[in-house]
This record gives sequence, structure tokens and C-alpha cells, in this order.
Amino acid sequence: MLNHDGFVPDEEFINGDYIRETLEKSKAASDEEIERILDKADRFEGLTHLEVAALLTNENPVHLERIFQIAGKIKEHIYGDRIVMFAPLYLSDYCINGCTYCGFNCHHKYQRKKLTMDEVREEVRILEKMGHKRLALEAGEDPVNCPIEYILDCIKTIYDMKTDGEIRRVNVNIASTSVEEFRMLKEAGIGTYILFQETYCKETYEKMHPHGPKSNYWYHTTAFDRAMEAGIDDVGGGVLYGLHDDPNFEVMGLMLHNEHLEKKFGVGFHTISSPRIRPAEGTDPTAMDHGVDDEKFKKLVAIVRLAVPFTGMIISTRETMEMRKELIKIGISQISGGSSVDVGGYSARERNEPQFVLSDSRTNEDVVDWLMEEDVVPSFCTACYRSGRTGDRFMSLAKSGNIKNVCLPNALMTLTEYACDYGTDEFRSKVDRLVESKLPKIDNEKVRILVAGNIEKIKSGERDLFL
Ligand code: SAM
Ligand code: SF4
Repeated sequence: MLNHDGFVPDEEFINGDYIRETLEKSKAASDEEIERILDKADRFEGLTHLEVAALLTNENPVHLERIFQIAGKIKEHIYGDRIVMFAPLYLSDYCINGCTYCGFNCHHKYQRKKLTMDEVREEVRILEKMGHKRLALEAGEDPVNCPIEYILDCIKTIYDMKTDGEIRRVNVNIASTSVEEFRMLKEAGIGTYILFQETYCKETYEKMHPHGPKSNYWYHTTAFDRAMEAGIDDVGGGVLYGLHDDPNFEVMGLMLHNEHLEKKFGVGFHTISSPRIRPAEGTDPTAMDHGVDDEKFKKLVAIVRLAVPFTGMIISTRETMEMRKELIKIGISQISGGSSVDVGGYSARERNEPQFVLSDSRTNEDVVDWLMEEDVVPSFCTACYRSGRTGDRFMSLAKSGNIKNVCLPNALMTLTEYACDYGTDEFRSKVDRLVESKLPKIDNEKVRILVAGNIEKIKSGERDLFL
């Protein structure tokens, strides 16, 4: 069995005592100081972890109102009113870890499963019919039943599929690994390497991960250092809210982690996910004692938006429709739709054990329709990654304020493609109306004319046009 005992990080960039002391001291921040921080966020300049601490510990409702208002403004200004869509694809639920909160933990006795390559193709065909172009591959950790070669085979199988739809970006959410294996993932052409920290508190982490390779806090926490060393430009972090009793601590951990990556590699998180713990079969319910209530959760999401304005923010189907509606107004830029969280769940000839219970089980079609009702453009864009706009190249485009000039055009073109390929006549008319109302929002006249032309080309059968 893999174990990383004896692993020593180059630098202990997360220090629990420092985080607790900083949060305590920041309670003394004056109203003037909070206003200065909010003015800075309002200019899209991002925030330091010290400034984040001051906002996290401030309880003044007037400031909170302004935090939400600025979060909405940042989202609108940087990305425009589009939301990128994706879906998870569970490959294997074999797992040798004992994570107390996860339905795949090794003590949970049920028939484990991993997809054969034919089954991968079957799942992907269904996901393509749902309109998806971007997947997040998910797997438990098991070097025997699910080695890196298996993950690489799955990636190749997906990219090699030549079907009407087409998965254009494969992100990967698997266990922390070595530089060598990260290099293999890079060579296989992955988009973002995603790994949730679960909790930044070392003591809580060790309690929640009592054994197995994942139990080594520092091996897990330095995964992105190795991924970036291996040349993976885009990494996606997140914490699982509900494991640790202080969610402010977790946001501070995210900020310090991001600052560490920026300092060492010149670029921080490409995305941050904000999962909240959900009930799961075969888990210890006491692991879910520290749920974060909706109001607190919205505040955390909005503060992260202010702190890292150019980082994509992801919300999954762990949240209800009502909650997702509120979160997309305060900074979320990517959501999943029509998700299944069990292995083989899309074809579902026989249901396997899900990883946890979903809160939003609508179809992708319903999610797309609902976003349009909310006057948001659902986007199936994968352009940045395919145009080499990853890592610091993506960040400099975002920081220049020009990302919006590619995001909205690509959203309108990919939504039109989706409507042509999968929509009814009624849905296509609805998309036409939305596109017409959003086209004038593209400031640059040349780009606007180009996009209008491309939309006509897509309607006449051309595919995969992007900026
Ligand atoms: N096995 C890898 C790992 O643990 O990093 C890959 C990802 S695992 C399939 C995906 C994520 O699901 C975990 O990182 C964890 O944060 C989340 N998860 C596990 N149990 C959950 C639960 N009960 N509620 C919500 N999210 C959960
Ligand atoms: Fe395994 Fe990941 Fe679940 Fe932990 S969270 S039991 S490592 S699948």
C-alpha cells in the first residue's frame, strides 16, 4: 500500500496557529479599514490574506451588503453574464482511503466498479447527447485497481472518440501523486488538475483521514507544487465546507495556498470549488457536525470572489437550485448540470453506490433552460485551453480586462451550437432571442460583427468556432 510517511514539504506554507492569530487580530479592523479594503476590491485589485481575514471576521451588515454588491460587479465585469457548464464522469469507486465523510471510503462494503473502455465510451456518448463538451474525471485512490495508466487510457479513449458531439476538455480530479505521474497527465492533454484540500486544519485533516495514502496532510497539500513542477498550468483547489468547525479558517487556508503558488510559480489557482458536505451512505454522520449555513456560505463565496477576481469559481450539484441561483449572482462562473456521482450512472443499467446525495438532480437541459430564464448565457466553451490560454497567459488576459471579450462571444457561439445540435425548434428560437439581446454587449464592433457572422455559419452546419 502507498504511504507517504516521512514526506517533508519544502515549505510549511499553511500554519494553523498563524491563521487563528490573524483571524483573532483582524476582529479589531476599523470601519475605515474595511472600507479601504472594499474600495480596493471594487477596483478588481484582489485582496491579501490579511485583508480577507478582516472581511471574514467583520459582522457589520452594511459591509456585507457591499461585499455582495462588489462580488456581483466583479463577476459581471470580468466574465460577462455567462456561466460555463461541465459534468463529472466517475470512472472508478475503488478506494483504499478511509475518508470519514465519503461514500467511497474503504470501510463501506458494497460492490466496487470501474468502467471498461467500452463503458467509458457509452457514458461519454450520453454526456455528449446532453450537450457537454467539458468533463471532470473523478476516481477514488487505488494504485492496484485504478493506477495512473487506467486514468490515462480513459483520457485517451475520450479524446479519441469521433462522434457528433465531442468532449473538448478533460479536467481530472484524482488523488495527489508524484511529479512523474503528473507529467503523464500533462502529456495526455488534461485541462485543469483539480484537488480539494478538504480541510486546511492539520488536526482536523488527520481526524477525517485516519489512514491510507491520503492521510498524509503535507503530501496532499503540496500536490499542486508537484503538478506545476510537472508543467500542469491550471490547477483547481477547494475545501469541503463542514469538516472543520471554522469556515473562516478554511478560506484563509485557500488564500495562503494561492499566495504560495503565485510566489513560487507566478500563477495561483485557475479555479476554486466550494463544495459543502452532503450526506453519504457508509459514512460517519458525526463528520458532518460542522455544516455551514446558507448565509455564511454566501458570505464566504463572495469574499473569495473579491480576493481572487480572476479565478474561476465552481459550484456543483451539491447545492440546490435556489442556492445556485443566488451564488451565480455573487461570483460563480462555472456550474455542473445533469450530474451523476456514481460509476456508470449516466447509462445506469444498474445503479452503483453514489459518492454522496445530490441537491440538484435536474437534467442538463433543465439547467440550461433555467439559466436562460435567469438571463444568463450557458456556455459550452473550451477555447482558452485549446488556444493555449492557460496558466499565466490566461491570468494576464483576465487581468487586462479582455477575457470578457472572448468569454461572451464564445458563450453565444457554443450555445447556438448546442441549440442546433440538441434543441427543439422552440428552444432554438429562445436561444436566438437571447443571442440577439446579448450581442450588443460585445463592446468591440469588429468582434461583434465576427461573432454575428460565425453564428450564421454555425446555423448552416459549421462547428467548433471560437475566439
Ligand atoms: N479521490 C480523490 C480525492 O479524494 O481527492 C478524487 C476526488 S473525490 C471522487 C471528489 C471529492 O468529493 C472529494 O475531494 C471530496 O471533497 C468530495 N466529497 C467526498 N465526500 C463528500 C460528501 N459526503 N459530500 C460532498 N462532497 C464530498
Ligand atoms: Fe476515496 Fe476520494 Fe472518497 Fe477519500 S474522498 S474515500 S480518497 S474517493
